[in-house]
Amino acid sequence: MKDIKESQIDSIEKLYVAQPFLPDLNRVVEMLKSIWESKILTNEGPLHNQLEDELRTYLKVPVAKLYASGTTALLCALRSFDLPEGAEIITTPLTFAATPHAISFCGYKPVFADVLEDSLTIDPASVELAVTERTAAVLGVHVYSTICDTPKLGRVCQEHDLKLIFDAAHAFGASVDGTPVGMLGDATIFSLHATKIYHTLEGGIITTPHEDLAERLRLVRNFGIVDEATVTEIGINGKMNEFSAAIGLLNLPLVAAEREVRKSLRGRYDAIIADQPGLRRQIHQPKVEHSQQYYLMIVDPETFGRTRDQIYDALKERGVYARRYFWPTCNDYKAYEKYPVYSTLEQPVVEKVKNQLLCLPFHSGVKDFHVDIIADVLHNRTG
Ligand SMILES: *Cc1c(COP(=O)(O)O)cnc(C)c1O
Repeated sequence: MKDIKESQIDSIEKLYVAQPFLPDLNRVVEMLKSIWESKILTNEGPLHNQLEDELRTYLKVPVAKLYASGTTALLCALRSFDLPEGAEIITTPLTFAATPHAISFCGYKPVFADVLEDSLTIDPASVELAVTERTAAVLGVHVYSTICDTPKLGRVCQEHDLKLIFDAAHAFGASVDGTPVGMLGDATIFSLHATKIYHTLEGGIITTPHEDLAERLRLVRNFGIVDEATVTEIGINGKMNEFSAAIGLLNLPLVAAEREVRKSLRGRYDAIIADQPGLRRQIHQPKVEHSQQYYLMIVDPETFGRTRDQIYDALKERGVYARRYFWPTCNDYKAYEKYPVYSTLEQPVVEKVKNQLLCLPFHSGVKDFHVDIIADVLHNRTG
């Protein structure tokens, strides 16, 4: 007992980058009762189907399919395009492990292209350099909810006949000039992991503007089973269960309020950083409705006088756990250490910037005194 209490106090005092929001427990119990009554726990049950309908409307897409995780969604999306065996897929090294690992897990080869200095999204000119006759697709990431240069990527993909897929794990609910993020490529995946702004405990979505892909996307997540007597393709168990769907239904109406809280927190962080030479943010995209998944700060140690790691340590000493996200980058992983990063520059942007990235705690659990601590550390005030 004593141990549990102590660890609880510990977790209250420490502030982390993400904090999952949870629906009212009484409403969860109500939902569970309906599951107990139906005795349907998974296999595209009623709550699953209701959530799929609601998400299609919320994300303003013709097709939205649910999965057990964002990673499963990535695997199923990649499988659904029938790319040639061993095909190369060009992606960014500045992403979570799931992105290149899903490519490799499907038997394809991830090829890394550099990112743009201002947006940190994949650089279309570097993508162009990485294209070979084996390239079959580009997998861009709307990293920290900053949206890729989709018009330029679209042109590169059209010219070389490549599929354009997006990992929008950071961009749930984002849009560009009114176009929903789930409509920007041939397929877009979202993660509904507990650390994401909208979550189903674990979960994922694939959206696509191609309505003829819908049935295929459903089959790959369910072993390719069409009916009792017919299995048409190789699939996996990628299904979302009813408990996750219940949490998803209860959480969906809560996203807007959480996003508002984060929007105002973003304003406060922006103000702290604004007058500090050597600290910068990602480019502001005026036409983008932001998901508010992360707040990223970029530290130039020469101008700022302190390194990213020094700030990270100073915050940690005061109970604020920022994250050096994404560091290391994927090209630093053992599996990919021999993989070059294609770049138009002699030193890829990603090699410099990965040591400058710091994501600050960004959720409704961040209180005024936390913001004051962060301001003190960044402005080098003590006590
Ligand atoms: C979270 C995340 C994923 C994977 O999602 P899971 O739901 O944890 O499998 C994929 N890509 C990026 C960029 C992510 O941040």
